[in-house]
Amino acid sequence: MKIMNPATGAVIADVSAENSTAVRRKYELARAGQARWAKTPIRKRLETIAAFRARIVALHETLARTLTQEVGKPIRQSRNELNGVLGRIDFFLAESAKSLREEKVFADASQKLEERITHDPLGVVANISAWNYPYFVGSNVFVPALIAGNAVLYKPSEYATLTGLHIADMLHDAGVPRDVFVAVVGDGATGAALLRQPVDGVFFTGSYPTGARIAAAAGKRMIKVQLELGGKDPIYVCEDVDVKSAAAGVADGAFYNTGQSCCSVERIYVHDSIYDAFVAAFIAAVKGYKLGDPMDDATYIGAITRRPQLDVLRKQVADAKRKGAKLLTGGSVVRGKGNWFEPTVFGDVDHSMLLMKDESFGPIIGIQSVADDEAAVDLMNDTEYGLTAGVYTQDERRAKRILAQVHAGSVYWNCCDRVSPRLPWTGVGHSGIGVTLSTYGIQTFTRPKAWHLRSA
Ligand code: NAD
Repeated sequence: MKIMNPATGAVIADVSAENSTAVRRKYELARAGQARWAKTPIRKRLETIAAFRARIVALHETLARTLTQEVGKPIRQSRNELNGVLGRIDFFLAESAKSLREEKVFADASQKLEERITHDPLGVVANISAWNYPYFVGSNVFVPALIAGNAVLYKPSEYATLTGLHIADMLHDAGVPRDVFVAVVGDGATGAALLRQPVDGVFFTGSYPTGARIAAAAGKRMIKVQLELGGKDPIYVCEDVDVKSAAAGVADGAFYNTGQSCCSVERIYVHDSIYDAFVAAFIAAVKGYKLGDPMDDATYIGAITRRPQLDVLRKQVADAKRKGAKLLTGGSVVRGKGNWFEPTVFGDVDHSMLLMKDESFGPIIGIQSVADDEAAVDLMNDTEYGLTAGVYTQDERRAKRILAQVHAGSVYWNCCDRVSPRLPWTGVGHSGIGVTLSTYGIQTFTRPKAWHLRSA
């Protein structure tokens, strides 16, 4: 498997993808290692994760550079991701022992009865991961899964393989046994081979079409399946905002990580009384973004990681133009080496356009004017997805009234494109099923066992 730098098109490494036989051997390895790991005291398991955290700190710059080289993410944003993952690990280190503790939920001396809950690990879990935030989406799964006593078969995306191998090396150096965290390298075919193993759970991050295939493959097996999928996340900007600062915040939410975030802003609705002013401020913010060498500290717009995505973006642009949208900036592939697309903004869009319906996953956005809150809510909910949604207004009650009506796993008031380890990360509809992060995202890697205890 050739690892390419999407910013230059150059091959930066050659790794061999694992076939079905190799995947089977890795499954057997993990199955043998899991029972011993589950018996290791949680204090020791937490120590290894703390040591993993220390490895990330020690190797920070090397890891950031690898990530930028293989996914084309601007180097400052790679560093941000590595800093952000430390906070997530800290949350799991602080909360896991409490969340996984045996609980006494009922006791009645007259009946000599006690009821308790324990949290048993699922066993061997498959973690099939995405490339856009490999440290975030990976650690949301493998960190709590390991702490809870599972063995993890981790398949990094084929677009973030070197980062995946760094993660495996750091976990092993930190003391997680090699038969407890096992990296499985390859593309979709390797992922499919992994799914054919008798694992006890599948935790997937990626697109809706692949998620649907995974759900079908796991369907009859009665194992836990979690799918964290895409989004078409809306923002509604009310007429009472500070236009310049709202425009800058929403533009960052749309274009950060070159628009390749599951919770990127993908649709913008603006109250018609401030539409023109908002559009002008938004375009000014976007024109300030520097597109260029992802290794340069000043770069904000990096490369498009997957080359086929350029066709998706081209198609959305052509469709929007044909249906009468107004191209305000950008609109084209950048010629030359590597995969590049100009930051692109359309005004006068509507929901007949692909740009407002299908996940774009790139630096392109449409802005639509709306007459009132009711129209905004209807449009925000007019999607098969439901990952995040947000409102910008000075009025807290108005924001809460709107957000209560929106179908999404996470809702934002005066912010967007934000994930917190303390809050559950989950989606509605095609954005997936299950939950990571928060204490729910710790217990999800366990099977709660019900103990009915009556002393004689
Ligand atoms: P993808 O679906 O193309 O691939 C995801 C993973 O699935 C990769 O590791 C791939 O090798 C593997 N895979 C592909 N076919 C498979 C098969 N048949 N069986 C098993 N495994 C298979 O997604 P991607 O391009 O890596 O990621 C982008 C998508 O992920 C976007 O839709 C984005 O919104 C979504 N995403 C969601 C979240 C979230 O938290 N909800 C986070 C990040 C990314």
